[in-house]
Amino acid sequence: MKSPAEPAVDQAEWDRVKTRLKQEFGESAFKNWVTPITVGTFRNGEVELAVPTRFMRDWITTHYAERIRALWNGENPSVRKVTLKVEAARNAAMAGTATREKQPAHKAMGPSPRAASARATGFPAPNVTATLGADLSAPLDPRYVFENFVVGKPNEFAYAAAKRVAESVQVSFNPLFLYGGVGLGKTHLMHAIAWEIRQRDPSRKVIYLSAEKFMYSFVRALRNQDMVSFKEQFRSVDVLMIDDVQFISGKDSTQEEFFHTFNALVDQGRQIVLSADKSPSNLEEIGDRLRSRLSSGLVADLHPTTFELRLGILDTKSEQLGVLVPQKVKEFLAHKITSNVRELEGALTRLVAHAQLVGSALTLETAQELLQDLLRAHDRRLTMEEIQKRVAEHFKIRMSDMSSARRSRVVARPRQVAMYLSKQLTSRSLPEIGRAFGGRDHTTVMHAVRKVEELVKLDSAFAEDVELLTRMLES
Ligand code: ADP
Ligand code: MG
Repeated sequence: MKSPAEPAVDQAEWDRVKTRLKQEFGESAFKNWVTPITVGTFRNGEVELAVPTRFMRDWITTHYAERIRALWNGENPSVRKVTLKVEAARNAAMAGTATREKQPAHKAMGPSPRAASARATGFPAPNVTATLGADLSAPLDPRYVFENFVVGKPNEFAYAAAKRVAESVQVSFNPLFLYGGVGLGKTHLMHAIAWEIRQRDPSRKVIYLSAEKFMYSFVRALRNQDMVSFKEQFRSVDVLMIDDVQFISGKDSTQEEFFHTFNALVDQGRQIVLSADKSPSNLEEIGDRLRSRLSSGLVADLHPTTFELRLGILDTKSEQLGVLVPQKVKEFLAHKITSNVRELEGALTRLVAHAQLVGSALTLETAQELLQDLLRAHDRRLTMEEIQKRVAEHFKIRMSDMSSARRSRVVARPRQVAMYLSKQLTSRSLPEIGRAFGGRDHTTVMHAVRKVEELVKLDSAFAEDVELLTRMLES
């Protein structure tokens, strides 16, 4: 407990930090995550904040603590560290303030202690009943809603599919399988589906969790000989969403259980939404049965972003942050940070935060200076050796076969792919590429490039391989 002798935090500073947090993260995130925080002590450059639950502590620590620290440090340079602790006593007091206004007071559940504590955490939990175990479903990020998702050519199909699933009461396609590279919006779309369903019909039970969490719960149930209730939990949901199912790969018993759960839910007409970093056909380690089941619904992919989409995202995000970012700066970022949306967002936040901290205008020069490290990482030259290595790994051939004289299709085709990618992804000339592949002639390289272009049009599995490799090498 606090004693009066302990050094106190300057409330006015904290208030200013809060104002900034509200601007940056928006009203609802602010309500959910910042309002419940109470300030504690300030000692040796360290501010201690208290929150009512462990869950909130963890969430705020990963998502907001660094930003709180930076903002506070801007107010008062002697604040160098921010830590969070759990102060359970505040639980009851929080119940009122931290609840989203329109939260349908969990009417299906009755006043169970668990429901009460779910309210107290203030995070907008999906509608999970007490018997389902509120801890089964992961929390949803309040920022990940459809309105905040910028739609462009690369993601319009996935967006439309997600929207359809969220809006229809009847099961439309089962499962909806979203796939794409890191940071392209899979998790965002999944949360958006959950939010939308929950808003339209709070009585529908939605469970969203990562594949890792699914496996963890499964293994725990096995160990506790509690499989019956484990299965019950999943089998009584209306919508089951599992994120990053590539992590289910390989674990036989989990796969088996997943498969059964999956079939049971589909048979009962429940909606399933899955995401992964690869298409079902490329999820190598999962069994054929599960793979074909996964492909049996609608498979929608999120393509790497285009310049236009990145620009659109920057427009939207800067508007949300409430700052005027010059067009030149936006174009610069959209040109330079091409890997994924998460990094793009990060770069923008960094620029805006800096400009606000030092009170300077955002210019192209400051952008270049501030993002030096990031840009250098992106300018990094992709080497032909790296390409050869990745391609060899992918097709399971030896690296030495990239330059060997062997001509059998098993090695020749991957070699052609590597030549093609060298042409596409590096600035090397045809003769240079030829030399790197065991001293081959430039016409051989030209032939390889044409061959791959031709095959991509004819063979969709091959096209997927090439696209996957491209993504991997570009990221
Ligand atoms: P993934 O799950 O595919 O790795 P996320 O859904 O976590 O990617 O997205 C990474 C970040 O980029 C998130 O903050 C998300 O809100 C943002 N993001 C991705 N795509 C878009 C988009 N089209 N519009 C707005 N934000 C996006
Ligand atoms: Mg994700």
